[in-house]
Amino acid sequence: MHDNPLRSLPPVNAILADAGLAGLVSDLGRETVLAAVRASLEEARAAGLRGDPVDPHPGRLARRARELLEADRSTLRPVINATGILIHTGLGRAPLADEAIEAVAAVARQYCSLEIDLDSGERGRRTDDVEGLLRRLTGAEAATVVNNNAAATILSLRALAAGREVVVSRGQLVEIGGSFRLPDVSEASGARLREVGTTNRTRLSDYERAIGPDTAALMRIHTSNYRIVGFSESVGIAELAALGRSRGLWTIDDIGSGALGPGRPPVDGDDPTAAEALAAGADVVLFSGDKLLGGPQCGIMVGRRAAIGRVTSDPLMRALRVDKMTLAALGATLRLALAPARAARRIPLWTFLTVPREALRERAERLASSLRRDAGLEADPVEEKAYLGGGSTPFEPIASMAVRIGPPFPKGIESEGAFARALRAADPPVVGRVRGGAVLLDLRAVTPEQDDAIEAVVRRIASA
Ligand SMILES: *Cc1c(COP(=O)(O)O)cnc(C)c1O
Repeated sequence: MHDNPLRSLPPVNAILADAGLAGLVSDLGRETVLAAVRASLEEARAAGLRGDPVDPHPGRLARRARELLEADRSTLRPVINATGILIHTGLGRAPLADEAIEAVAAVARQYCSLEIDLDSGERGRRTDDVEGLLRRLTGAEAATVVNNNAAATILSLRALAAGREVVVSRGQLVEIGGSFRLPDVSEASGARLREVGTTNRTRLSDYERAIGPDTAALMRIHTSNYRIVGFSESVGIAELAALGRSRGLWTIDDIGSGALGPGRPPVDGDDPTAAEALAAGADVVLFSGDKLLGGPQCGIMVGRRAAIGRVTSDPLMRALRVDKMTLAALGATLRLALAPARAARRIPLWTFLTVPREALRERAERLASSLRRDAGLEADPVEEKAYLGGGSTPFEPIASMAVRIGPPFPKGIESEGAFARALRAADPPVVGRVRGGAVLLDLRAVTPEQDDAIEAVVRRIASA
């Protein structure tokens, strides 16, 4: 190579001297701007090495550095969830109700009465407010909250069964939502699992036979994203709790997604709600705050005073407790849940669960026709199935509607995968699904206000 294009790249200082960049130094600091200049040079060098044309003009490299500085925003960004998976762990699970967001903002901005009783001025407990609400909503004697349901599981096993045995059905030892495995969680707690039954069938007599002098508890775990169908049998929580009671053992029920009670949220499921599991005799019931409840990430424990008391006095509680923002969001969400009809309008997840398909059909038709008309795309409304997700009953689909786009795709976009990527790279990012050579944008977890943003994003991609 005679005239090596890399030799013609200007020095860092020549680029830094660009007026547009020099002005940014006082705002962002020299370090940050310098890093962007180096990145811009690095890009040019890489292009040169590939044999691509390189423009060595300092002004152009400075402009590129400015672009990089503008693009230097958080990788944690709001996105539009058009996947049709309502509790999508990769997308942060449940969006919060406005009431919950406002409650978070209020305590985040200022000091708050987290652990002080404003009446007496004495020290109070941080979970007092949510505990009262959880007791009203589930009928529990006591309640507490930790970082997530995995933490709730570790803590309850540790507090109730460390150094002893917990009897569990082999059919319930599944991995949930990636990386939650009961054998590992129980090992971390210091309790030993005693597996009974077979993968597909466990009877009450299996539990009975396994109980010995070392047994501390019986545990049931919702198998969430996994189900054994056909020749299968398991023991319900009422039978299990009756056995536990008669032998002086704790009964722990990990219900996973965790509806609070019938009608909360207002959808039918086959699985016992928290209120029902308690009424059936469970001593401790565990569930996530950001699944069916539609609140912030946390792990909720409701149950008998004696059991919850042991949990809250465990030294690990201090390491797993939640902060003021989580408590504020949870309190506001639970307050909404006291009136289910209103909550169905205010808690986004509850709304997504209850919007009739016909309402989605109308929106899908409108969106598809404007994309055909204004963006010149192949776009059609199609009936789809949405799923709860988040390690919760994926076997019961929810009737939904999607807009199917392509093929063909806009110029320069070769495949459905490339189109989906362009949608994710847009502002705001739109996350859809790819199937059968097309991109599907499911409206089940999209708010009506987001329809316009989707339309604008797709039109920008089509006209680029
Ligand atoms: C989701 C789930 C968990 C884990 O809950 P996180 O809040 O994600 O920690 C545990 N058990 C069951 C049954 C679940 O469905």
